[in-house]
Amino acid sequence: MTERVGTEPSVFTRILRGEIPSEIVLQTDDVFVIRDIAPQAPIHLLVIPKTDAYADVTELADGDPGLLASMVRTARTAAAQAGATDFRLVFNTGTGAGQTVFHVHAHVLASAASPIGERTMTLGMPDGEEA
Ligand code: AMP
Repeated sequence: MTERVGTEPSVFTRILRGEIPSEIVLQTDDVFVIRDIAPQAPIHLLVIPKTDAYADVTELADGDPGLLASMVRTARTAAAQAGATDFRLVFNTGTGAGQTVFHVHAHVLASAASPIGERTMTLGMPDGEEA
């Protein structure tokens, strides 16, 4: 379980509102996709629910499993749009796992050219541990 930090809109909500510049590369009624500003793989997308009601994936799974399924389907579509059929889907959950934005989001990590090596996938895990 994680704690929500303050009551300010998350960076992702501000992107959705157009208050912070970012290109939305794909969206559905309930989910949108952007490129991560600090990519950890050749393809690094973030799949984000439009609602900020869920801080992390455990809250989302309890509160709206259908929305979680929608995120996974959108991840597949976004990866394919970027040229990847295989991808890694990562939900950092809690500060100790490297979560910094408490508006649930999935990292889509892939390489269009070749399988991703494990070294590219640390995603800020504590002490440099592999994800
Ligand atoms: P996490 O550390 O799992 O909470 O992931 C948050 C991710 O959001 C990080 O990978 C950041 O690089 C990414 N991020 C933060 N601000 C932006 C932004 N303005 N545009 C795109 N990605 C961002």
